[in-house]
Amino acid sequence: MANYQDVYRNSIDNPEAFWAEQANLVDWHKPFDKVLDYSRPPFTKWFVGGLTNLCHNAVDRHLATRPEQKALVYISVETGAESSYTFRELHAEVNRFAAVLRDQGVGKGDRVIIYMPMIPEAAFAMLACARLGAVHSVVFGGFASASLATRIDDARPGLMVTAGAGMRGGKSIPYKHLVDEALRLSAHPPQKVVIVNRGLDKGMSLTAGRDLDYASLRDQHMDARVDPVWLESSEPSYILYTSGTTGKPKGVQRDTGGYAVALAASMRHIYAGRPGETMFTTSDIGWVVGHSYIVYGPLINGMTTIMYEGLPIRPDPAIWWKIVEEHKVNVMFSSPTAIRVLKKQPAEYLHKHDVSCLRNLYLAGEPLDEPTARWISDALKVSIIDNYWQTETGWPILSGMPGIEEQPRKFGSPGFPVYGFNLKLLHEGTGREVGVNEKGVLVVVPPLPPGCLSTVWGDDKRFVNTYFSNFETELVYSTFDWATRDEDGYYFILGRTDDVINVAGHRLGTREIEEAISAHPNIAEVAVVGVQDGLKGQAVMAFAVVKDASRIATPEAISRMEKEVMATVDKELGAIARPAKVHLVTMLPKTRSGKLLRRSLQALAEGRDPGDLTTLDDPASLDQIRAAIAQWQETK
Ligand code: ATP
Ligand code: MG
Repeated sequence: MANYQDVYRNSIDNPEAFWAEQANLVDWHKPFDKVLDYSRPPFTKWFVGGLTNLCHNAVDRHLATRPEQKALVYISVETGAESSYTFRELHAEVNRFAAVLRDQGVGKGDRVIIYMPMIPEAAFAMLACARLGAVHSVVFGGFASASLATRIDDARPGLMVTAGAGMRGGKSIPYKHLVDEALRLSAHPPQKVVIVNRGLDKGMSLTAGRDLDYASLRDQHMDARVDPVWLESSEPSYILYTSGTTGKPKGVQRDTGGYAVALAASMRHIYAGRPGETMFTTSDIGWVVGHSYIVYGPLINGMTTIMYEGLPIRPDPAIWWKIVEEHKVNVMFSSPTAIRVLKKQPAEYLHKHDVSCLRNLYLAGEPLDEPTARWISDALKVSIIDNYWQTETGWPILSGMPGIEEQPRKFGSPGFPVYGFNLKLLHEGTGREVGVNEKGVLVVVPPLPPGCLSTVWGDDKRFVNTYFSNFETELVYSTFDWATRDEDGYYFILGRTDDVINVAGHRLGTREIEEAISAHPNIAEVAVVGVQDGLKGQAVMAFAVVKDASRIATPEAISRMEKEVMATVDKELGAIARPAKVHLVTMLPKTRSGKLLRRSLQALAEGRDPGDLTTLDDPASLDQIRAAIAQWQETK
């Protein structure tokens, strides 16, 4: 087995040699002339002159070696549908979809917005676009019309693909209707809309001349063969908008060759998945995790990928482990939010199924607190690998890398820098590197490795200004996250740079205080924000979800619990970090990707407008916060 330190050093000292070797993991129609072109910093081109195609690498390439292996397994607990597609069948479906799109005039460089629930056709549509050299932009199906409209106007698609309806938690979501509304709102609506009718929305009507029924078009192309369009490595494969946790979403533009290589390498070194094995990623195709590790990554690696439509707790909280057992899942990828949801359920559900096939469970998307990590690790007896990355990077920046070397993990840390990422922690004021255990802004020294964003769609200036203009001392890519590195080289993410609370001159990370509060045995989840305070600058305010609500049934019990939480913070961090107020709630406001909407929480706590709420998952969560704050203001 290799040694992480050597691999990492080599990737930073000899990036061209390192990546040229990784590039052998994918097929090239024409080999590249040059590994790296960094003549126009910070713009980076990988594998210059090489021709390749993502769909070919994800699908066609496996026809020779594993045609009858399952490529995609579809499970919907919402509709009860289950189906699977071998690589041969996947190839046929993708060709059909590509033929339909081609008939409508979709070709190289054209944008196609995909607004779909988790159904196989969503993956077919993505792969079909890749096959044609068209640029897909998948918009998360949970977004409402207004969010969809702004993305349409930014990406300017000629065509959209959608479904009649989706289902979430047993409730139907009228996709087609939402699309109609979005097209009305948008300044540049697409000419055509291809609709996959699932039969869930009986009242759906098609607009003549614009709306096309996929099933009937597919019937005309059952034996279609569409040759992959070979793209130069740096030509765009897709646009994906960031989650919008901190403001207006940015259209991350991804290249083709660099992304293919980065994913293939990550499947081997980070996810340690072998061709022929099965991967289950519980995310959604609307997020970067879905792009990289439901669709492209596992397929490029010749693995079976599981596509799941449903929540983690229906029909019961054992559903994911049932899937792991039945489909012999070897690699699983989920989010801390989902695990916290399961943590609120009776523990027995974790022991109903044999999950011994599972080697590693990867979690990403937000901080993984130690109690949650320990809980799931102990319960499943699998190792938990915290992954830190961003929509922008497309694959992990910090992670355990069991495919290179098994290393001891520290709870609360996503581990070490991933090969290719030259990381530094810079002092936000001076721009100098901070010392061991000192807090700094996590930055990447460019050139960014393959697979990372090549620019912001249609806005090179925004790309440079947003990401590369934060330090005068040197040109670096800012992650906008705080982190520390300990004496053993482990990194710890402390939260976003705009999430710092300044209490009487002490700068506290929201994450540190949240970790401290999570140490209380009866707290399932917590959000901490800084609230304006005449005296101290800012005061700490906590919103905590209690595990066992019967313990806060009376006002006395509530106030006892609040005191306990405060005492926990005193003990873990000191009185300076003690919340001025602890609100006990049953739910926190989150985006549909499971990220805390901290800016809205803070705004409400300060009596301001909560801002753009189009990404909010459940409006009831904010109502609770409003009520709690109103009550607090009365008693203050
Ligand atoms: P926007 O950039 O539009 O505000 P966003 O940052 O939430 O949205 P993503 O790209 O989906 O959109 O999220 C990346 C961010 O999520 C990281 O910058 C980091 O703040 C957080 N994050 C992701 N993984 C981890 C992790 N393992 N530990 C801690 N934080 C994480
Ligand atoms: Mg971000």
